Amino acid sequence: MKAKIHLIIVALHALSTSSVIWASDPSPLQDFCVTDNNSKVLVNGFVCKSMDGMKAEDFFTYGLYKPGNTINKLGFNVRAVNVNTIPGLNTLGVSMARIDFSPRGLNPPHTHPRATEILTVLEGELYVGFVTSNIGQTNRLFTKILKKVDVFVFPQGLVHFQFNRGHTRVVAITALSSQNSGTITIANAVFGSKTPISDEVLAKAFRGDQKTVDRLQAQFWMDNNN
Ligand code: MN
Repeated sequence: MKAKIHLIIVALHALSTSSVIWASDPSPLQDFCVTDNNSKVLVNGFVCKSMDGMKAEDFFTYGLYKPGNTINKLGFNVRAVNVNTIPGLNTLGVSMARIDFSPRGLNPPHTHPRATEILTVLEGELYVGFVTSNIGQTNRLFTKILKKVDVFVFPQGLVHFQFNRGHTRVVAITALSSQNSGTITIANAVFGSKTPISDEVLAKAFRGDQKTVDRLQAQFWMDNNN
């Protein structure tokens, strides 16, 4: 009888949890799980390497003191420190980046499908903002001008941007609640997809004409997820 009740509880628990969608990284089940780059096994994240041969370097990177190269159409540069940079970040659910902006540099509207982002400014002044989902049929914009060491949060999945409106460079450090947050830059995804979305779809969606769509699709859409 006891076993039966236990089974029912397990089944109910399985039912209730199976309907939950985990949008953030799962919690680790051990101290750490350093990525084994030699493994061919595919899991959600990366396979752990054995404790033998594990070293402090697995949890370390350097060089973020160097400014990123902002000579590009948008005048900004992201240097991501994630699980691809630090193998020890595997399963730990965090990552970070240094972002450099030249004067008038823009980190264009984008989202991180797997992370909330929290950003601070080390140098200069940064205009930042995010747009809510369609709460009550309205997408609301929240913006702020960040001065040195001010902090701003971009909630998970929401479209956001950062713009250097000034005439001096800006340096920011940002943290993300995923080992691999992912970046979807809106313009790139919509107008720069490999195998383009049809003119008709885009013209209708953006209430424009196909000529404008063609012009946008012909642009070079820089990869911002570096
Ligand atoms: Mn971001």
